[in-house]
Amino acid sequence: MSTPQARTLRAARRCSHCRTPFQPARITQRYCRGKCCRAAYRAARRETIAKQDAAYYAANRERVARRSAAYNAAHRASIAEQRAAYRAANRDRIARNSARYYAANRQRILKRNAAYQAANREKIARQHAAYCAANRERIARQKAAYRAARRSNPAHPKPPSSTDARP
Ligand SMILES: [Zn+2]
Repeated sequence: MSTPQARTLRAARRCSHCRTPFQPARITQRYCRGKCCRAAYRAARRETIAKQDAAYYAANRERVARRSAAYNAAHRASIAEQRAAYRAANRDRIARNSARYYAANRQRILKRNAAYQAANREKIARQHAAYCAANRERIARQKAAYRAARRSNPAHPKPPSSTDARP
């Protein structure tokens, strides 16, 4: 460890990672703080770390799955918030990407969806009922908005479902 006096004797330099000027405590110090040092280290070893991570996941698949399920359960609200914020901030990009993916894989997607629906008919019906029950108000609001839009513009398309949401 160097003394404060030694620190002031050295010329200020810029952090190799974030370019912030700082007073190096050692002649070899290239980063303004530990965070930058670790970030630069990770960036330089990106591929090695990715390989190590992949090997770790492969060897500990069940443990990782259990842990991430526990994490997701404990952070459900904040994860949903982050996802919503990400989707809101990247709406255009996400729509473009998924349109491109769909166009490139249309046949495969249709085949897979049909197979999934055939194999999971009951589960899908259950999920659909649960979704409707959990989002009754939102669905009713959307339908009301549809109807209002149709009233003001007769050419507006029909709502996707013909069932009436009124109680
Ligand atoms: Zn820095």
